[in-house]
Amino acid sequence: MSKKEGFKLLYKIGKIDLEIKDLKEKKKIYPKEIEELQKRLNELNALLESLNSELAKLENEREETLKKIENTEENLKKAEEKVSKITTNDEYDLVFTEIDNYRTMKKTLNNHLKKLNEKIENKLKEKEELEKEIEEEKAKVLPQIEEKQKSLDEIEVLIEKKKEEREKLLEELKETEIEFARIYESTYKQKKDGIVIGFISEGSNHCSNCFTVLPIQHLYNVHKGNEILFCEGCGVILVSEKFKE
Ligand SMILES: [Zn+2]
Repeated sequence: MSKKEGFKLLYKIGKIDLEIKDLKEKKKIYPKEIEELQKRLNELNALLESLNSELAKLENEREETLKKIENTEENLKKAEEKVSKITTNDEYDLVFTEIDNYRTMKKTLNNHLKKLNEKIENKLKEKEELEKEIEEEKAKVLPQIEEKQKSLDEIEVLIEKKKEEREKLLEELKETEIEFARIYESTYKQKKDGIVIGFISEGSNHCSNCFTVLPIQHLYNVHKGNEILFCEGCGVILVSEKFKE
């Protein structure tokens, strides 16, 4: 009688193992999906970062240009002050060449400043648009990420719950049929995917885990449930669906 109870417990444990395996598969999907959702946002943030550094460069250049203009204006003023003190023709030529040079320089610098201001203005517009796009992307994507994170947490909790359930059943199995529990545990250690039990439905001729077709005598003995039998294909413990309560 206790063997029948033992197989019933193995049946339950095997189903829980399958559930845990499914949950673990699901768990793997979420981090990838979250990463995928974050991708566009990361790209936009990287764009913003490079735009900010371009802006900083341009603003730096503007500061320098303004300083140069200021210096040129001072020099021009000094040169112009010399005009009233000119006494010779040579001096006249020299001073006016200097004045001309500074005026040309000032004009060139002012043109450069104008272009810089235009560039800065355009970049600022670009930045404003980008920031808007980032906000929109965040509004779209962050709730989705949060939801997936929540599902992920829920799965973790569920897995823990299933594991506890299995522990309880295993304890029960130890009391009912210690040998079954021992075999289950030693098989569990050998299995990397956590699947220790395969199921045989009545009328079916193969292992539910690896689909290996099993000899009729073997199937008959599995349904009879007098002893623990293994799948010849994948090595799982075979349990008849008859032991489903
Ligand atoms: Zn198998």
